[in-house]
Amino acid sequence: MKNQKRPKEYFKDSSRLFDNNVLLSKGEKEGHGYYQFLTSGTNVCARCQKLHRKIFRYSEITEKEAIPPIHPNCRCEIVVLEGDINDIWDSVTITRIGTLHPAIQDSAIAFILAAQKQDINLRITDGFRSIEEQNILYEQGRTTPGAIVTNGRGGQSYHNFGLALDVVEMKDGVPLWEETDWDKVGALGKQFGFEWGGDWASFVDRPHFEMSFGFSTSQFLQMYNDDKTTDGFVNIQ
Ligand SMILES: [Zn+2]
Ligand SMILES: [Zn+2]
Repeated sequence: MKNQKRPKEYFKDSSRLFDNNVLLSKGEKEGHGYYQFLTSGTNVCARCQKLHRKIFRYSEITEKEAIPPIHPNCRCEIVVLEGDINDIWDSVTITRIGTLHPAIQDSAIAFILAAQKQDINLRITDGFRSIEEQNILYEQGRTTPGAIVTNGRGGQSYHNFGLALDVVEMKDGVPLWEETDWDKVGALGKQFGFEWGGDWASFVDRPHFEMSFGFSTSQFLQMYNDDKTTDGFVNIQ
């Protein structure tokens, strides 16, 4: 066993994995426990692509494969997230912020933290929702069991572009769908530039907040179909 030769790549990859673990545990100790997985280059395998932009908490990851390199020659990187995002009370919410369009992430963080300052612990229950997932949701209450929860088909909701989020106040691990002070939460979200579903006349959707940047969902769908996207998100400028 002593003289067994391992390929060079093996040493390179295991030292990168070691370095990344050192970086992440240092971040955790300094109060920056969250990190984002980033793929690099254009020839990214499906396995890595799935992890692109995902946010993990180092102390909570059970899947060690969320730390690159996750396979030989994986060139993916990690970024330790610094700043306000680490102050959010809820790791589920932080993870979901990672699914949002980069253009609204800072506003979402500011909104959740402002509520938190008023002792309202909001959880993001829904952020990005794929067009396929939206179609399944649309059928709920129409052709499949359950209550109607959306008026939008795939591509008709800002969620499909990562530009909407749904929130609810949590207490002792329980969502307060009825007891949440929606007027207060709605007013707060609007302060950070979101349009609030609670203001809608035709389909009141109090947990829902979105940013349109002056575009309709059909304009965004067109951009999406025309591949006017970066990292899967429509180009807003
Ligand atoms: Zn990779
Ligand atoms: Zn929504």
